[in-house]
Amino acid sequence: MVDLTKRRLFTRQEVDKDSIRLPWLKDTESFIQGCTRCGDCSDACETNIIVKGDGGFPTIDFSRGECTFCYRCAEACPEQLFTAVEQRPWNAKANIQAGCLAHQQVECRSCGDMCEPMAIQFQLSAGRVAMPVISLEDCNGCGACVAVCPSTAILIEHQK
Ligand code: SF4
Ligand code: SF4
Ligand code: SF4
Repeated sequence: MVDLTKRRLFTRQEVDKDSIRLPWLKDTESFIQGCTRCGDCSDACETNIIVKGDGGFPTIDFSRGECTFCYRCAEACPEQLFTAVEQRPWNAKANIQAGCLAHQQVECRSCGDMCEPMAIQFQLSAGRVAMPVISLEDCNGCGACVAVCPSTAILIEHQK
């Protein structure tokens, strides 16, 4: 007979601690230990970006849309996993990869057009198309730039 307790512990240990889970989490460790995988946060999310990740734990899929920082996921959660709304939601930031069209001398400003805090500036240099550069100070990790990128070159990552 399968020992469900063991399977549960195993799953929690195996979970990827680096992936972007939810905004306002107290910390990843207590989240992994305390989340019951009930799905209430996912049901509450106004942009439907919370999906089941590894081990069935909620994770954010920015290819579906952006986080509006509405705090509904935190409010819906029956566990004590989140900080107060006044706190900074997370230290996630956008990171543009080498697949960006500008690296291939193709003009594109889709990400910049979507960025409300105007964290993406385009740097001009002679004879080259403008290159997007992210101001880490201004980027709030909302992920609005991810889905619009035609070459899926933008990742949202925890700032170490
Ligand atoms: S803050 Fe709102 S938009 Fe962002 S993940 Fe939570 S419910 Fe979704
Ligand atoms: S609502 Fe809370 S306990 Fe339920 S899946 Fe989301 S984070 Fe986990
Ligand atoms: S994650 Fe949001 S704030 Fe950051 S660069 Fe992308 S659109 Fe702008």
